[in-house]
Amino acid sequence: MEYRNLGKSGLKVSALSFGTWVTFGNQIDDRTARDLMHTAYDAGINFFDNAEVYANGRSEEVMGRILKESGWPRDTYIVSSKVFWGGDRPTQRGLSRKHITEACHAALRRLQVDYLDLFFCHRADRETPIEETVWAMNDLMRQGKILYWGTSEWDAQRITEAHMVARAQNLVPPLMEQPQYNMFHRERVEFEYRHLYDHLGLGTTIWSPLASGLLTGKYNAGLPEGTRVQLPELEWLRSKMTSEETRQLIPKIQQLAQIAQDLGCTLPQMAIAWCLKNPHVSTAILGASRVEQLKENLGALAALEALTPEVMERVDTLLGNKPHFPVYG
Ligand code: NDP
Repeated sequence: MEYRNLGKSGLKVSALSFGTWVTFGNQIDDRTARDLMHTAYDAGINFFDNAEVYANGRSEEVMGRILKESGWPRDTYIVSSKVFWGGDRPTQRGLSRKHITEACHAALRRLQVDYLDLFFCHRADRETPIEETVWAMNDLMRQGKILYWGTSEWDAQRITEAHMVARAQNLVPPLMEQPQYNMFHRERVEFEYRHLYDHLGLGTTIWSPLASGLLTGKYNAGLPEGTRVQLPELEWLRSKMTSEETRQLIPKIQQLAQIAQDLGCTLPQMAIAWCLKNPHVSTAILGASRVEQLKENLGALAALEALTPEVMERVDTLLGNKPHFPVYG
């Protein structure tokens, strides 16, 4: 495993990490969840990503039981939660001091840990003053309940505002962002945030490196059985996977698979390695519903070397979506 500093912090996070969105407490049984976490940990993955909204808290409960039963020393892994969607009532959502505080306490209970290593604001909240959010995170930090805080899918301006507020009031600013990043979704990480890495020391824990499974090629011929698109609550994903826009990507996915084959790896391995080629990616969060998928995806690290500048250029030419000011040469 390779370890990278999370932004400007000293925290060493594994380049590949493991997340539980739609799988834990929902798509898969607890035994598979356990096998996945053990496979990840045994391979050197040290960061497990979660959120209050995943399976309405059940995902954190499942992870909490696995962590407890594992006996892994608490100082060998990093666990996160995210706050934003805690329930239907007005006080159960958003980034108010009240909801942030209560969401943290609830996540600690469900995960059965004394502190969260990373705590993310799962989205921006335009109805809460940013000062209130920064203060609430700072207070949780002072109380030892969280170690680092960050954002997810905030725009560059909002992240910069949070830093300005923190600086003016001597508070701790957000360290990391959790944005979507994959071959089909590059603009924000490669272009919009380009100044934040050096200026603010921003780290990134990127999500959906396989574009939710699209970059495995398994959706090329329609919607296969036994995948996340069968989950009733993911109607939006089903419609996305069958949209005209997605259909037009299929020839590109087929050509990407050919490049992967030329390199001697699989398409998922190449797609994940491609994300890690970007030095501003601190960690790529993998999702999996089966141990075999995770084992295959762990092979991405071995594929890194094969992604030479020539291969990266070949991929860029094929994708045709490289932002104007790339972050790597
Ligand atoms: P991916 O894009 O990597 O998709 C993972 C899914 O693709 C798996 O669950 C599986 O789905 C399929 N898959 C994975 N590997 C293979 C393989 N080798 N062969 C075939 N199919 C495969 O990541 P996710 O979309 O799951 O996101 C990863 C994590 O990022 C989440 O768990 C969560 O922690 C985080 N996240 C954060 C968000 C945010 O807003 N902050 C939003 C979304 C995710 P299946 O078996 O069902 O086909």
